[in-house]
Amino acid sequence: MAFGASPPSFTLLGDLIVRYPVIKTALPGPLAAQLIEVDRQFVSPSYTRIFPLVAQSAEGLWITDPDGNLFLDFTSGIAVCATGHCHPQVVKAIREQAGRLLHMSGTDFYYTPQILVAQKLAALGPVGGPAKVFFGNSGAEAVEAAFKLARRELNLAFFGAFHGRTMGALSLTASKAVQKKHYNPLVPGITHIPYAYCYRCPYNLCYPACGLACVHYLEDTLFRTTVPPEEVAAIFVEPIQGEGGYIVPPPEFHRELAGITGKYGILYVADEVQSGMGRTGKMFAMEHFGVAPDIMALAKGIASGLPLGAMVSRAEIMDWEAGSHASTFGGNPVACQAALATIALLEGELMANAAARGEQLLAGLREIQRSMECIGDVRGLGLMIGVEMVKDRVTKERAEDWRNRLIQIAFRRGLLLLGCGPNTIRFCPALTVSADEVEVCLEIFDASLKELFA
Ligand code: PLP
Repeated sequence: MAFGASPPSFTLLGDLIVRYPVIKTALPGPLAAQLIEVDRQFVSPSYTRIFPLVAQSAEGLWITDPDGNLFLDFTSGIAVCATGHCHPQVVKAIREQAGRLLHMSGTDFYYTPQILVAQKLAALGPVGGPAKVFFGNSGAEAVEAAFKLARRELNLAFFGAFHGRTMGALSLTASKAVQKKHYNPLVPGITHIPYAYCYRCPYNLCYPACGLACVHYLEDTLFRTTVPPEEVAAIFVEPIQGEGGYIVPPPEFHRELAGITGKYGILYVADEVQSGMGRTGKMFAMEHFGVAPDIMALAKGIASGLPLGAMVSRAEIMDWEAGSHASTFGGNPVACQAALATIALLEGELMANAAARGEQLLAGLREIQRSMECIGDVRGLGLMIGVEMVKDRVTKERAEDWRNRLIQIAFRRGLLLLGCGPNTIRFCPALTVSADEVEVCLEIFDASLKELFA
C-alpha cells in the first residue's frame, strides 16, 4: 500500500494478511475498562501506563484487546519482542523446553540451554575476544552484575542514561529525577557527564567543528580536577541512548571515548540492553562504531519476551570467586531456549530486515518532517528511531505536551507508540516488521499529527 493511499482494513497478499488497525469501541472498551479498574486497586501505582491498552493476545506486530480491537504495535513491549509477538519458532522452543526442564538453577547446577546460550553469546564476539557470561533476569540485573564485576572506588556514566532501577543500576541512571526521588543516598562514587547529544549540544557547539568536546572534557576537565582516573573502574555507556531520547552519537564518539578511557585502564561497559540483539541492523549497536567494549549488558530482545539478562565480559575480567554473585532464576532453561531460537532468527534474516525497514521508516519520517514544523529531529539506526518534537525549530523548545497528545491520538487510531526523553517519540517495532506495516505506521502517524493541529 502506497504511503498516502486510503487505508484498507484487510488486504490479502498471498497467504499473508496485511492488516490495518480495527478500533470498534471507545478506548478502553468495556472489558478492558473493567480490568483496568481491578489493576488500579491491586497493582503498584509506580508503573507508567500512558494509554489504556490491555493486551489479550498478539501475533507478529498485531495485538488484540479483550474488546476485539486490533492494534499495530510499534513498541514491541518496550523493544523486547524482537521476533514479533509469539513467533512460532520461539513458541515451539519454549513449549518443548517447558516439557523437558523448567528450572534447576544455574547457581548450583548445570543444564544444557544455559551452557549453549553462553557459548553462542561468546561466539557472537560482543567483547572482541574470549568471553564469559553471567545470567540474570532483566536489564537492571545485567547492569548490576557489570557494576559489581567492575567496581572500584569511582565510576563514570552519562546524563540522560537509563541503566535500570535496582539500587546499583539506579545509581548509574540519570534519566528522570522521579526515578531517584526519595531513594538517596545511592551508591557513591559515580560521576555523570554529558552525552554526545548533538541536536542539543550541552556545550552549545556544533558537530564536527566541536572536535568532540564532550569526549575531551574527560581529560581536559574531569581527570584534572575531581576524578583521578586511576581510581575509576569503568565508564557505563549506551551505544545509542535509549530512554534518554534515542540519541545517536557521532560515528567516532565511542572510538575516541574508548581511546581515552583505555589509556587509563578504565573498563568500557556498553549497555546494549535496548540497542542490542539486532535492533539496529547489527547484532550489537557497538559494531556500528567499531568498538569492542570490555563488558556488555544485554536483555530485552534477547529472548523475545521471556525474562533473561546477560552480562558478557572479556574472559580474563570475570575473575569472581565462587559465591560472589549469582541469581536463582538467572539464565532459566526456558528463557535460554527462547534466546537460542531468537538468535537463530536474528542471524537468519531479521537483522537484515531491521536494517532495510529501518531505512524505510527513517526516510518516511523525514518526508513527514518536511511538512511538519513540530518535528525538530529524526534520528536512528535500524529499528531504533526517535522523532523529537519541538514548539519551534529555531528555539528547539521542547514540545512535551504535543508529544504526549500525539501518542494518545495514534493509540485511538490503533497505532501503539512510546515516548522517550522529555519530548521524543520512539519507533521500535519487532524486527519482523514488513514494508506494508511500516507504510501503515507512517500513514497513521501522519494522520495523527494532522489531527493534533486540526
Ligand atoms: N539498560 C537500558 C539501556 C535500558 O533501556 C533498560 C530498560 O529500559 C535497562 C537497562 C533496564 O532494563 P530492565 O527494565 O529489564 O531492568
